[in-house]
Amino acid sequence: MSPTAFPPPQARLLLDSAALIANWQDFARAVGAADCGAAIKADGYGLGAREAMARLAAAGCRTFYVAHWQEVPALLPLPAGVTLSVLHGVTADELPAALALPALPVLVTAAQVALWRQTGRPCEVMVDSGMNRLGLAPSETADVLAGMNVAVLHSHLACADNPAHPLNERQRACFAEVAARVPAGAYALANSAGIALGAAFHLDLVRPGIGLFGGGLMPNGRVSRPVARIQARIIQLRDVPAGGTVGYAAAFAATRPSRIATVALGYADGYARGLSGVGFAEVAGVRCPAAGRISMDLSAFDVTDAPALAEGDWIDIPFDPETMATLAGRTSYELLVALGQRFDRVWA
Ligand SMILES: *Cc1c(COP(=O)(O)O)cnc(C)c1O
Repeated sequence: MSPTAFPPPQARLLLDSAALIANWQDFARAVGAADCGAAIKADGYGLGAREAMARLAAAGCRTFYVAHWQEVPALLPLPAGVTLSVLHGVTADELPAALALPALPVLVTAAQVALWRQTGRPCEVMVDSGMNRLGLAPSETADVLAGMNVAVLHSHLACADNPAHPLNERQRACFAEVAARVPAGAYALANSAGIALGAAFHLDLVRPGIGLFGGGLMPNGRVSRPVARIQARIIQLRDVPAGGTVGYAAAFAATRPSRIATVALGYADGYARGLSGVGFAEVAGVRCPAAGRISMDLSAFDVTDAPALAEGDWIDIPFDPETMATLAGRTSYELLVALGQRFDRVWA
């Protein structure tokens, strides 16, 4: 064994290909004739963009989105027949590298359109229909894009996760008006939650992200299947007497003689500090609460009620994104993208 050939890390993410594909198929079915793409930015919402892309492409997904050009090289070579687009568009200093990569920018400013115009290549374009984040203003879009080959004209919803919000319909109507004046190969508006708003929001192409990976709102009353489970290895087991405390700030005090398992998982791995005291492991169906503060590299679980464990055992630490987000006071997006680089990511 060479000195750098370590065994796998003490924490792993078990990733469920079937759940990922079934989530995408729920979206694809819900949008009928529209194309169903996939947003795989931020390393596939923390789970692994390259692996997610391979599985979704094999299931029939043809259209993928990342945020930065810097995310593209890790995805090469692209699976046959798919397109990849970069949601932040392209800057002058990125242009030479961008032209060498098999991806298209989603141009977001008039200056980006002017820059890309010189290349003579097709593009995608973002229109800001009311979010006031990225995109051309509706009033300038037709003029700025005159003579451009626009493969896809996009817009993005600000409030899709709140179906009652009036901005949803205002954005839809605004984008429809722009679309009527601006020729493009296809028109796209909906993220995951936007798909659940119904057929009027589906247009030609949709861009779900979070729902593929276990969180957010799904169409037709479905629930996104969790894709990732955490397993971590017990480094040490100890018996703590009643009155003993565990971890930083002595935040857990044992009310009975307790057995504490300390595992190689902490907030540096994305096991959020907000899960202190509320996260849990599951051992043979027994829920074992996080005992005290989650630290950077370690967490302790109260395994007193679990069947016998040994140091070196792997334990399951459930990570259903919406459940854990509620417990941690965060969003499922934040929890997923924070999953760190120290995990062994194991796809089944
Ligand atoms: C991230 C993103 C998506 C995917 O959004 P989800 O809410 O994760 O489904 C779609 N479109 C754009 C422009 C995005 O930035």
